[in-house]
Amino acid sequence: MSEVRHNWTKEEILEIYNKPLMELLYEAATIHRKSHDPNVVQVSTLLSIKTGGCSEDCGYCPQAARYHTDIEGNDLMSVQQVKAQALRAKAGGSSRVCMGASWRNVKDGPEFDQVLEMVRTINKLDMEVCCTLGMVTENQAKRLAEAGLYAYNHNLDSSEEYYKEVISTRGFQDRLDTIDNVRKTNVTVCSGGIIGMGESVEDRAGMLVALSTLDPQPESTPINALVAVEGTPLEDEKPVEIWEMIRMVATTRIVLPETQVRLSAGRTQMSREGQAMCFFAGANSIFAGDKLLTTPNPDVNEDMKMFEMLGLNPQKPFTKKVQPQSVEAKDSQFEALGEKPKWTRPEHKIERNEQKKQEALELRKQ
Ligand code: SF4
Repeated sequence: MSEVRHNWTKEEILEIYNKPLMELLYEAATIHRKSHDPNVVQVSTLLSIKTGGCSEDCGYCPQAARYHTDIEGNDLMSVQQVKAQALRAKAGGSSRVCMGASWRNVKDGPEFDQVLEMVRTINKLDMEVCCTLGMVTENQAKRLAEAGLYAYNHNLDSSEEYYKEVISTRGFQDRLDTIDNVRKTNVTVCSGGIIGMGESVEDRAGMLVALSTLDPQPESTPINALVAVEGTPLEDEKPVEIWEMIRMVATTRIVLPETQVRLSAGRTQMSREGQAMCFFAGANSIFAGDKLLTTPNPDVNEDMKMFEMLGLNPQKPFTKKVQPQSVEAKDSQFEALGEKPKWTRPEHKIERNEQKKQEALELRKQ
């Protein structure tokens, strides 16, 4: 096991990020082997159970209702649809299903009850279940835990400073509060971010300070490379270079030694060689399936060929933590409280977000 530190400073993390690459890779790979099998990579499947029409203004996201993008929205999927997709994912080698809904926050009611049923259903398939549903209260987190949720995803996205340049409809502290609510249960925390949004290297280090100083550190950290989608405020951002991704993965591995580091969005732009270097640097999970929520992702068969070539084995479910018990709805100890929490709405102006919103309004008039 590696030493887990919760007092990393931005300066220390920058020094690691900027090391000569061969030294950085060696250090990250050495730390990786202390807590993880270097030949095992988890395959996870991300399902968009409710797509589009979101009230938030995340500058990278094609699902925000205020921007004009060509994604097709859909209402909440049925439990049967989700089960069918989960079975397909399991047959394709996935040990984890992550369900994403384009909500600002969870609201008690029939839709949340349906999600709880999806959690029970996937848990019974002996797969790890993760949800990403926006902000949650403590009671909602406890209900998810009782249904058998394995992980809750809530990304910090970037540094606290740069967060304000990307999102105006909620604050960084709201993210930390939701993570705190999840931590009051046995559900593990998945939290990471996106690079390539125009942030500085200092912001990347700042995000890693925020993640590494959480105690306990997140069990899972996705590192996404921005997929710039037309119509979103970040549509003109340059693609992330593979070297930046490798450095970010390696640095994340060093400061979060026991965490599952997930190579997430942006893999279609990476060569196999690039991905192999990310695995060497400590990435030990990928998302499978032709779509990552709404953006393209490599084909599952291509991924399996890559695994074969690199001698990698998919990670079995519940390798890191035992399968949670799942309580049936009728036996639940919790009731819907119908809370209306005051998550913040800072609503500061972000020029590029405002501009894209205006352009979308004009296009809708035509
Ligand atoms: S990232 Fe999530 S919260 Fe933000 S606009 Fe997209 S769906 Fe909504």
